Amino acid sequence: MLKGIAASPGIEIGKAHVIESEQVNINTAAIAKEDIDKHVKTLKEAINASKLQLKRIKEKAEKELGADKAEIFGAHLMVLEDPVFLDEIESKIKNELISADNATSQVVKNYVDIFNNMEDEYMKERAADIKDVGERIIKNILGLSTDGFIFSEKVIIVARDLTPSDTAQMDKDKVLAFATDMGGRTSHTAIMARSLEIPAVVGLVDVTGKVQDGDIIVIDGNKGVIYINPEQSILKEYERLKQDYTEYRKQLRGLKDLPAETSDKTRQVELSANIGTPKDVKGALENGAEGVGLYRTEFLYMDRDALPSEEEQFNAYKEVIEKMAPRSIIIRTLDIGGDKKLPYLAMPDELNPFLGYRAIRMCLGKPQILKTQLRGILRASAYGNAKIMYPMVSGSEEVRRANAILNEAKQELKAEGISFDENLEVGIMVEIPSAAVTADILAKEVDFFSIGTNDLIQYTLAVDRMNEHISYLYEPLHPAVLRLIKNVIDASHKAGKWTGMCGEMAGDTSATAILLGMGLDEFSMSASSIPQVKKIIRSLTYKEARQIAQKALSMDKPEDIRNMVEQEMAKIR
Ligand code: PEP
Ligand code: MG
Repeated sequence: MLKGIAASPGIEIGKAHVIESEQVNINTAAIAKEDIDKHVKTLKEAINASKLQLKRIKEKAEKELGADKAEIFGAHLMVLEDPVFLDEIESKIKNELISADNATSQVVKNYVDIFNNMEDEYMKERAADIKDVGERIIKNILGLSTDGFIFSEKVIIVARDLTPSDTAQMDKDKVLAFATDMGGRTSHTAIMARSLEIPAVVGLVDVTGKVQDGDIIVIDGNKGVIYINPEQSILKEYERLKQDYTEYRKQLRGLKDLPAETSDKTRQVELSANIGTPKDVKGALENGAEGVGLYRTEFLYMDRDALPSEEEQFNAYKEVIEKMAPRSIIIRTLDIGGDKKLPYLAMPDELNPFLGYRAIRMCLGKPQILKTQLRGILRASAYGNAKIMYPMVSGSEEVRRANAILNEAKQELKAEGISFDENLEVGIMVEIPSAAVTADILAKEVDFFSIGTNDLIQYTLAVDRMNEHISYLYEPLHPAVLRLIKNVIDASHKAGKWTGMCGEMAGDTSATAILLGMGLDEFSMSASSIPQVKKIIRSLTYKEARQIAQKALSMDKPEDIRNMVEQEMAKIR
């Protein structure tokens, strides 16, 4: 058995097809001056060939994966149209007298290094795009094959890594699942696999070294494990699990329009989606989201060279609010800093960026940025049901200061005769332990809480959420985390307010019964997790959930808690 990262759920059993990366030998020898024109011409031809190939792939992807996913290839085409990138390669050939493939390889490497050195996961993924385009150009220069994967039978693909264009070129009817050496939860392979609903396990380190063509593979995308040529008993067990899982997904599809209420109908909660851009609304609605519990607005500020204007922000917020109406949209104000930097915004170099000048702290230090955003949100609030949420609040003074800026924005709009929702609710993310411990104090200042467990866990347990060496300590079911969550929910209810959760834990099915039983009012998660969480909620009585929560809160070890929940759920089913 090999353990990797569960990138896309589902179970498959099939024959392995190992993708060997084709050897690309770059010509590193210097070229003669009189050959410069020849190399520039080869480069230009390779770029044109790459464009044609990518256009074809993009069309295929549009048909098979939808316009959203096909946009990756739009981004690749844009790299090929970028005059700065192309001029840089051409100048290298001319000035350094190196071959077209060598020049392309060096320029691409330079860009990839820059993007990879950024701490932001999103930017790191952009490095993969540039690398993918670069490899295509080089293969075209060298006359190597850029064809996709053609299989005569259904296979499980085993590869070092899969680029977006590899994935898009595949014959989907023939691909059962993916297993890769590289990749993380946010890698393109993972994203593509999830949207194709193909099971995938990534980050297996050396699966390509351990598997041979034709080996029988079991891939468990739910647990993130694979088995190579397993014994008969494991195969049998997995055939049964696969059937159960297929049946389970079928049932889930039927839940889309049903409420998230307990089986005894004594408790109903709201299941919402986390989104990053207006494009994500489609997936939210398809999975039955009852609202948006977290709109991460920082994406509006990224991938550009200046702050977005009030008008631009107003349009993005209005689009989401209108498309989701009459559902509620919680718009989080800018959460930049930590692992997310903006190239155009001067930020101090920090020893501990996650404990530094980020989110509401930065916005209170640059109030004009916050006010522009709040004006955009307020204006959009006239078109539906919007709420505002401040990130990284550590104490009540920050809420008061942010609200003072919000009031200024309201007064300005009133004076300008621009309408907005006068009753718009204002809440905070509870993601710093000090906020969770003093939730009773903060409850006086806000209309609602949303628990940001991604950060709350890292700060409570002192475990950097980005550091793979200590990821075994990153434990949502740690008693300290559970107690803080319970404290926040209780404090809000005492004050007549409500509490949601928008960290990943809200979509973690091993925590659903506990959170429901603790009285959490709203669960906001990746849209595709909503049906599974809803199924659990609908299978429990509120009393059963409360008992599970109570038991969990009395236990010492996360592992025991996880087993207890599993056993209790098995009894109920
Ligand atoms: C969180 O910290 O739980 C959260 C939802 O915010 P982000 O992941 O954007 O920090
Ligand atoms: Mg956070």
